[in-house]
Amino acid sequence: MVCRLTELLVDSHWRVVIIGAGQAGLSAAHYLWRDGLKPGRDFIVLDASDGPGGAWRQRWESLTLGSTNHIADLPGFPLGAPDPSVPASEIVTDYYSRYEQELELCVVRPAEVAHVTSDDAGAGPLKLTVMLDGERVHLTSDYLINATGTWTHPYVPYVPGIAEFEGKQLHTAQFREVEDFRGLRTLVVGGGISATQFLLELATVTDTLWATRRPPNFTAREFDGNWGLEVERAVRSRTLAGLPPASVVRTTGLPLRREFLDGVESGVLVSRGMFDEILPHGVHFPARPAEEAVTSEGLGPSHSDRLALPQSWQPFPEERIEEFDVIFWNTGFRAALNHLAPLHLRTREGGIAMDTEVAVRDDHRIFLVGYGSASSTIGATRAGRIAARELLKRLETTADGGSAGQSPAPSTATADGRTAEPPADTAERTNHENLSAQAAGTEAAGSNAATARPDESVPAVALDAVPQAQRRAGATVSSAPAAE
Ligand SMILES: Cc1cc2nc3c(=O)[nH]c(=O)nc-3n(C[C@H](O)[C@H](O)[C@H](O)COP(=O)(O)OP(=O)(O)OC[C@H]3O[C@@H](n4cnc5c(N)ncnc54)[C@H](O)[C@@H]3O)c2cc1C
Repeated sequence: MVCRLTELLVDSHWRVVIIGAGQAGLSAAHYLWRDGLKPGRDFIVLDASDGPGGAWRQRWESLTLGSTNHIADLPGFPLGAPDPSVPASEIVTDYYSRYEQELELCVVRPAEVAHVTSDDAGAGPLKLTVMLDGERVHLTSDYLINATGTWTHPYVPYVPGIAEFEGKQLHTAQFREVEDFRGLRTLVVGGGISATQFLLELATVTDTLWATRRPPNFTAREFDGNWGLEVERAVRSRTLAGLPPASVVRTTGLPLRREFLDGVESGVLVSRGMFDEILPHGVHFPARPAEEAVTSEGLGPSHSDRLALPQSWQPFPEERIEEFDVIFWNTGFRAALNHLAPLHLRTREGGIAMDTEVAVRDDHRIFLVGYGSASSTIGATRAGRIAARELLKRLETTADGGSAGQSPAPSTATADGRTAEPPADTAERTNHENLSAQAAGTEAAGSNAATARPDESVPAVALDAVPQAQRRAGATVSSAPAAE
């Protein structure tokens, strides 16, 4: 299919713009399409990447499908059972690519939304400034489904001296392969599953030390479907209250996998606490606090009044300096929402007050999908569905003479200047019906294996976000949390 939308974007107006073509954006697009909205006529999908795959396109090569937690099906088009030894980046990129073609989505890329503004708070058309293949383009939309994930927003907490370090610093998003670390003494920072898995990997090629702010949040809870639902509930209670989602590991905890227990036993997975200063060739650890926390400060299902593995927490008793060649920050990601900053959606607490899992309380033109409790592939798929259904209701209301937000009835002018027509033609319906039939089974099967990918909530300094492949080995439980 030849896609000519790019040429038609300049100064165009849309009923709906979807930003981001990862799991969340594709799911939302599917449900709009399924209801008869036509891509390129009624809505458009913009994506900053060079090609399909969302964040998965960027993940490291040794992260095979078999070592991911679980990649949920997109609605109506099951992933099937690809070779688990193939890199997840390849499989998901191919999967999303076929999905886009099947739906004839005509995703516009590379199209990075630089910012979204509005003349009237919560009403009228939203104005988008888009970097389209390097050119600045303006367009407007009545509604926005934001599905921009977290990958492009890696975070590193501020520590005094961070700019003075003369060794190498990198974030999870920049990891390429373990060999890059051979012989380089490495400080691994962060208490999530990425940090623990990288520590075990790196220990095969170099000397490592683990630093965490809190005691490692190992949990004896079984990572089953109920656990997934509890995790989502705990995260949702924060986002509905306008708080930023807490760090992933505080809510999910770390599973007591055999390799983790062995790692603690061998000393590789033993945290020495958190350093308070970075020096040109190392870091300074303060003395162990007199009144030490005895819990990991876990939230939701991972909360416990005592540590599941107390031997994994051994801060240095006296202050000391440790030297390193590399500081490897596995300190998480935040929701990539900078382009929405001009709309002032943030609460004083730093979150975005939500009415539901997807609906922004203070601006009824905007939906966030893949945010907070919906940031796993299963959650993203669900959020896409909920957002599309809610949006369709709002479109019906506006078509009946209501308004987008409090704006006048939305224009249905299309990119090519035509007026929007009634729902899909016959060919689309056939397609649509086929996919819909498959969708029912898919969703039912996946509905209780929910996971969460909330963001870090610490003050942070972004390193260069050079997305590289990442590795998470040994994650075998399908309902386990996404790595951080
Ligand atoms: C290391 C790691 C491992 C994970 N493993 C798992 C797992 O095993 N199972 C699981 O369910 N989840 C896992 N997750 C969570 C996973 O990322 C989500 O499940 C899922 O990929 C999120 O989908 P999404 O559509 O919300 O975001 P993404 O896949 O990140 O897609 C967002 C898209 O938006 C685009 N975009 C961003 N900003 C803009 C902008 N301003 N303008 C235009 N486009 C923009 C991006 O280019 C991207 O294509 C993992 C996360 C991490 C960090």
